[in-house]
Amino acid sequence: RAKYLIAASGIIDYLPALENMRNVYDYAGYNLHVCLICDGYEMADKNVGVFASTAGNAEVVFPLGWFTSEITLFTQGLFEVNDELGQKIQQQGYQIIETPVEQFLGEDHQMTGVELTDGRVIELEAGLISMGSKYHAQYLDTFDLEKKGGNLVTDKMARTSHPRIFAIGDLKVGLNQVVIAAADGALAATQIWRDIRRSQPPKAANTDRVLR
Ligand SMILES: Cc1cc2nc3c(=O)[nH]c(=O)nc-3n(C[C@H](O)[C@H](O)[C@H](O)COP(=O)(O)OP(=O)(O)OC[C@H]3O[C@@H](n4cnc5c(N)ncnc54)[C@H](O)[C@@H]3O)c2cc1C
Repeated sequence: RAKYLIAASGIIDYLPALENMRNVYDYAGYNLHVCLICDGYEMADKNVGVFASTAGNAEVVFPLGWFTSEITLFTQGLFEVNDELGQKIQQQGYQIIETPVEQFLGEDHQMTGVELTDGRVIELEAGLISMGSKYHAQYLDTFDLEKKGGNLVTDKMARTSHPRIFAIGDLKVGLNQVVIAAADGALAATQIWRDIRRSQPPKAANTDRVLR
């Protein structure tokens, strides 16, 4: 029965699927990052492991290279590094490790490396997970809204391709940052108010108070 809907349910990042997920949660959000834009500076000049799930999201090693030159890409055995990507990575002097990760190592939420399934230990000073995200937007599937990748396409007032459905924050195309999500909310609310206002006549003047 709602006249308008603002979808604000965000996304959740996929994490390395280890048998013991507690081990991932011990470090994720500390020095095992998920957001280059948010936390890139914390990886400056550090020995960083990038944990990717596709050749596409492995490309994050290149913008990360602005912060640090010591980068190891962990494919976790999930995808093949094609010749073009392999060459680009080699040219930058980054390492590639295809053996899956057994567990993250460290203490007090500070990850210091990984143990691989073949028993090797690789030392690291920070990590960046780049494995895509799950969009909390299944409830919108019936509307067949326009998307780019997984993100909802919106106009400058956060309106989707449906005139009465708005999407804000991480669900939509744009930068995944708190201030953007908050600003989107203000835009969507303002536009909804405008729509409602334009569909209704202004309040009738109190004729007793009209000056003659
Ligand atoms: C580890 C990490 C670090 C980050 N660091 C920064 C940073 O330093 N600076 C920065 O600006 N941004 C940072 N971000 C990004 C920032 O958190 C997001 O861009 C921002 O929170 C997006 O806001 P949102 O409202 O779109 O979604 P969210 O903040 O994710 O809020 C969505 C909410 O909807 C709820 N929800 C989901 N499905 C449903 C449903 N069906 N019904 C009801 N509720 C539902 C969720 O539980 C959640 O509470 C970081 C993100 C992560 C994961």
